[in-house]
Amino acid sequence: TRFHDLDLPLPLMHAIHDLGFEYCSPIQAMSLPATLDGEDCIGKAQTGTGKTAAFLITVITDLLDHPLTEQYDSEPRALILAPTRELALQIAEDAKLLTRYTDLKIATLVGGMDFEKQQRRIQKRVDIVVATPGRLIDFVRRKAIFLDQIEILVIDEADRMLDMGFIPDVKSIERSTPMKDNRQTLLFSATFSDDVINLAERWTRNALKFEI
Ligand code: AMP
Repeated sequence: TRFHDLDLPLPLMHAIHDLGFEYCSPIQAMSLPATLDGEDCIGKAQTGTGKTAAFLITVITDLLDHPLTEQYDSEPRALILAPTRELALQIAEDAKLLTRYTDLKIATLVGGMDFEKQQRRIQKRVDIVVATPGRLIDFVRRKAIFLDQIEILVIDEADRMLDMGFIPDVKSIERSTPMKDNRQTLLFSATFSDDVINLAERWTRNALKFEI
């Protein structure tokens, strides 16, 4: 599959072209037709497969295809959760490249960085939040962020979230977003243990399951 055949918004197509991507990787070819159509997915995929672009292209297309009217500005519409600060920063970097021809705003909320500075950042309009669970839960508890306008929830490396003991935080964050019938949920994991499958089933709705 070529990106050209997916009918993506033009500013996104330009950014994909700049990155030199022409053909979808296998995970992108498998997931994008369904996720661009609003379906949930549970994907077994390692890093290096192009999974980041797979979910970012879905998020960005949804936000660009359904612009909001001014009155609902400021609250984030997409949330991407990653287990580590390094991974969150990498995802945010990729998101910046893919949104360079749009006016979508991205904020990164991760531990080990100045809370006040991150707080000032999200007082302005933010469309996409990339976060680690621990830092995000601080923001939620202090009512410094509201997740009730989230349209797409992405949970990356769910197996590592489990291993690192983040699941209580992720559960609490998931409950702060709209119910699964009212959002799109994409979950990725390098391995599919029973625990990962149970959580994935609980958080998604008729999800497309795939392995690569
Ligand atoms: P990831 O699996 O998300 O860590 O991505 C692995 C690498 O593949 C990243 O450096 C991406 O920039 C690159 N990549 C993702 N999708 C494609 C594609 N369709 N064509 C070429 N490179 C890609």
